[in-house]
Amino acid sequence: MASFSGVTTLTDIAVNLDEIFDEDWSHILLRARENNVNRIIITGVDLEVSKNAIKFCREWNASGILPRLYTTVGLHPTNTKQADETGLSVEEYEQRLLEVAMDGMQDKTVVFIGECGLDYDRFSYADLDTQKKWFLMHLNLSRMTGLPLFLHERNTNNFLLNWIKESGGIPNGAVVHSFTGNMEDRDNTLALPNVYISINGCSLRTIEQCDVISGIPLDKILFETDAPWCSIKSTSPCFVHTEKLPYNVIKRKKGTIPREDTMIKDRNEPVMVTQVIRCYAALTQSSIECAASCAEENIQKLLGKFMH
Ligand SMILES: [Zn+2]
Repeated sequence: MASFSGVTTLTDIAVNLDEIFDEDWSHILLRARENNVNRIIITGVDLEVSKNAIKFCREWNASGILPRLYTTVGLHPTNTKQADETGLSVEEYEQRLLEVAMDGMQDKTVVFIGECGLDYDRFSYADLDTQKKWFLMHLNLSRMTGLPLFLHERNTNNFLLNWIKESGGIPNGAVVHSFTGNMEDRDNTLALPNVYISINGCSLRTIEQCDVISGIPLDKILFETDAPWCSIKSTSPCFVHTEKLPYNVIKRKKGTIPREDTMIKDRNEPVMVTQVIRCYAALTQSSIECAASCAEENIQKLLGKFMH
């Protein structure tokens, strides 16, 4: 069986601080460690979550037990209406995010500005004007901190990247996470220097998507789960490339006490990034080891100076 032999660190670059993990975070993190998923980046999706994520990372990191946790600081496009409701101006909100990011950089907990971007599929959360109003501050934050951007792009027909270009460009590199674009989106993204594409189960749902992903070169790829969402479904053309992990999988029921050897059905978690790597390796006809180590080299290039 093809393996990760020789690769001692894998990174899941997108995990959400979701309450569905609250009762068994330590088990989830230990399962990740058992499979060498030794670095995890939590996504900060607004001011409060970014602050909480830093606290969460610091508490876990103080134990000295791997995985090492990192986080992003920013405002997700679907949370922009809530940001409006705080009564803070964009400048005030930006200032507060800056303070949080600077604090988190001191001990290398914060590694990205974001999650930020535009989402044309979810105007029900925030209309386009509201999303746009809150986006550009992230370019300032990237410039001021030196941190790369953690971008969320959904169905903008390349508007987001063009808009960033018109607004002075990407100051310190970026990742377009949870990539679900078409060939043209992919190629436009790949044409940008120091910009990487990160994939998860949502990037691998159809044959067309798998074709798109197979054209992302090894020196541009990153991997994530976006847990608890975006797992690789059994209907994915890539499902045949996944491997069953040595854990029980149970349905979540009231009163169920989570155990270290038990995963919850339909709840994605960081250890599953190993399966995303397997799928990408199969699609690009690379070895699993090569796919995994190339992604780690890419992380080093993009984030090396901000990480332990
Ligand atoms: Zn996202």
